[in-house]
Amino acid sequence: LRRSAEVADHSLPVQRRRLEQPLAARGQPGLQVGCGGAPDVGLAARMARKLGVVALLVASFLVFNFVVATITPLHPLPVEILGLIRVVNIAAAFGLLAYFSQNFATAATRAEVRLELLAGTDPLTNLYNRRRLIETATLELTRHRRSGHVLSLIICDIDDFKQVNDRYGHDCGDQVLITVAARVRESLRGQDSVARWGGEELLLLLPETEGPAAQAVAEKLRRTIEALRVACGGREIGVTITAGVSELAPVEDFDSGVSRADHAMLEGKRAGKNRVVVAAPA
Ligand code: GH3
Ligand code: MG
Ligand code: MG
Repeated sequence: LRRSAEVADHSLPVQRRRLEQPLAARGQPGLQVGCGGAPDVGLAARMARKLGVVALLVASFLVFNFVVATITPLHPLPVEILGLIRVVNIAAAFGLLAYFSQNFATAATRAEVRLELLAGTDPLTNLYNRRRLIETATLELTRHRRSGHVLSLIICDIDDFKQVNDRYGHDCGDQVLITVAARVRESLRGQDSVARWGGEELLLLLPETEGPAAQAVAEKLRRTIEALRVACGGREIGVTITAGVSELAPVEDFDSGVSRADHAMLEGKRAGKNRVVVAAPA
């Protein structure tokens, strides 16, 4: 009964949570969902194994029937026993059918959830992608408007990243991006979300966080990244970030909040980079 209840809950959010939890426990950066992991390639093998078992059972049953049909019994079975065997046979056939239907339904839902997770993940950094963050932000905004809480956004952009690529090569640039993304993810709370918003740009969504608290988070991140050294090609690479912070006004939409954070970040670039700038209220 417990298993039936678990399997019956095929809704995508529930299945997504189930997949997210074990991967988050493994400390995967970003998403907490480890979409960077390989797709479930073992699924087909498992299903093929199960089908093999069914084929074997059916073949054994047919052989048994054939053998039984060719033997003349010493003592013919009474009609009641024959009736009982027939009922058991039918029940077993239905049982097998139900079992395999349930298995296929679970496998299909898992595959669907995995695809959904992959579709929402940036493959390089394993963070949310733009699409998934917008989805999350839409849900958070509705929740916040209902509860009256505020929500803040931070845009971080790696400074002079083009020079990192030019000096150390694109692979080392990728390594820097992966490490920065993981460090940012680790520094946030569980309810915060972070996405790769552009090439070397991250967008953070901080629920129930007012502007000054978001500024403190951004400043902590800035210092963390400044102190970070990424080993690549026998060299140690250091980078800095510039961050823009905006607290969403009660009636403000997400795009406007992002745009204010972006302008604040660009102001920080103009002012010399490696700094945090808070956007003026909407
Ligand atoms: P600024 O401080 O003004 O942000 O300068 P910048 O050099 O960081 O910015 P710019 O927009 O001039 O260059 C961004 C660079 O980021 C150029 C692009 O090749 C690089 N980039 C974007 N995505 C990736 C990626 O996935 N991997 C690597 N290695 N580089 C990337
Ligand atoms: Mg940059
Ligand atoms: Mg940029």
